[in-house]
Amino acid sequence: MNYDKNNIFAKILRNEADCVKVYEDSKVLAFMDVMPQAPGHTLVIPKFETTNLLNLPDEFMEPILKTTKNIANAIKKVYSPTGVMIMQLNGKEAGQTVFHLHFHIIQRSSGLEYKFHSRDVEDFDKLENEARKIRKAIAI
Ligand code: AMP
Repeated sequence: MNYDKNNIFAKILRNEADCVKVYEDSKVLAFMDVMPQAPGHTLVIPKFETTNLLNLPDEFMEPILKTTKNIANAIKKVYSPTGVMIMQLNGKEAGQTVFHLHFHIIQRSSGLEYKFHSRDVEDFDKLENEARKIRKAIAI
């Protein structure tokens, strides 16, 4: 599948669409998923046009995995879940719906409601409130 420059994450990277930022550096951007499956659901994307992980240049591997790990640790600090799910889908048949590579970071605990994928849009104020806590925990 060819990379579509008009996918929503490409627009976020070009500042043509809004997002609630959690972290950014020269190689990666992390922001809140607008349809969170659990509070704090964060996405990490490379600043590189690729639909999936299989075509990501090696120079982005360390930054994207390091950021994913740091945010997973921040989510642990903020929500104290018993588990953290890191999910990354490659291709429509694998369930991918946005075709710019992304890693999901989702807290999991027994008893915590785990919502459907891409179902309910959360309002930006609530997302900003969660992002603030995660940003603070990354810094510690
Ligand atoms: P996937 O199925 O792995 O491609 O997941 C795409 C994710 O992107 C879903 O969890 C959606 O909720 C999320 N999503 C879609 N549009 C946006 C957006 N504008 N900002 C943030 N997250 C989004």
